[in-house]
Amino acid sequence: MKVKKHRFPGVYIVVEDDGSERIATKNLVPGQRVYGERTVKFEGDEYRIWNPNRSKLGAAILNGLENFPIKPGSTVLYLGIASGTTASHVSDIVGWEGKIFGVEFSPRVLRELVPIVEERRNIVPILGDATRPEGYRALVPKVDVIFEDVAQPTQAKILIDNARVYLKSGGYGMISVKSRSIDVTKEPEQVFKEVEKELSEYFEVVERLSLEPYEKDHALFVVRKP
Ligand code: SAM
Repeated sequence: MKVKKHRFPGVYIVVEDDGSERIATKNLVPGQRVYGERTVKFEGDEYRIWNPNRSKLGAAILNGLENFPIKPGSTVLYLGIASGTTASHVSDIVGWEGKIFGVEFSPRVLRELVPIVEERRNIVPILGDATRPEGYRALVPKVDVIFEDVAQPTQAKILIDNARVYLKSGGYGMISVKSRSIDVTKEPEQVFKEVEKELSEYFEVVERLSLEPYEKDHALFVVRKP
């Protein structure tokens, strides 16, 4: 087994003895596992294998995402952080110089994040409703990236409303869109076109990527605030 760098800074590729490859991040809190993920040691560092079946961002990277604005040192507003599966990898990537402000409206789910952030101090958990961005104004500064994974019918509007308040000019949004959460009766392609149109009224749409086969009827959009 060996570990090499992915072209996105902070992301790594674990090459298994049989030649198969997996993506991973370098564990910011060695010894901590967040969702039962496998860890491997290589040249004195510990890496956490990033499971694309548990993380839409992991799926997007494996599906050939071209634009990945989350980098070491980035500040990220994460809408729908849940218990931190994907956010833990984002936390590894942004490192101690970066920060994640994680908004989640389910207290039960957020409670599972608390023991993780006790050691992973670059994540600030926020009990809040992403449809009401003014509710966490006292806690969140202007950020480089907003990542949204809330599976709600008004997803695009939520991203735009948060970007108006929190996203720096030239900053990026990343949004995972589940077509069935928006309209079960429409073809996913139709839903994605409508979301793209709505996003393009505020953002420049940089990329749209299908998350199949990891997630059915999901797409990930990368957008930029002019
Ligand atoms: N992004 C997570 C990951 O990959 O580890 C999974 C997120 S899960 C698909 C969606 C989460 O968004 C749920 O935990 C849900 O409670 C939360 N959510 C839904 N609507 C929300 C809202 N309006 N404000 C904040 N969180 C919300």
